Amino acid sequence: MANPTHRHSRSRRDKRRANWKGETPNLTACPECKEPKQPHRACTKCGAYNGRKVLEVVSK
Ligand SMILES: [Zn+2]
Repeated sequence: MANPTHRHSRSRRDKRRANWKGETPNLTACPECKEPKQPHRACTKCGAYNGRKVLEVVSK
């Protein structure tokens, strides 16, 4: 089985991880309330999906 021949230094490992960033999620405007929402997800502000209310929005 493929195996690393040499162990990389801590510095090399940390330099690799320094480039790692999470991806920012895509956002589109909700057709109901125009709030930004993730595509293919029900809107978190008004609970609408596909022109229909599918979620009860609990707001404090
Ligand atoms: Zn909405």
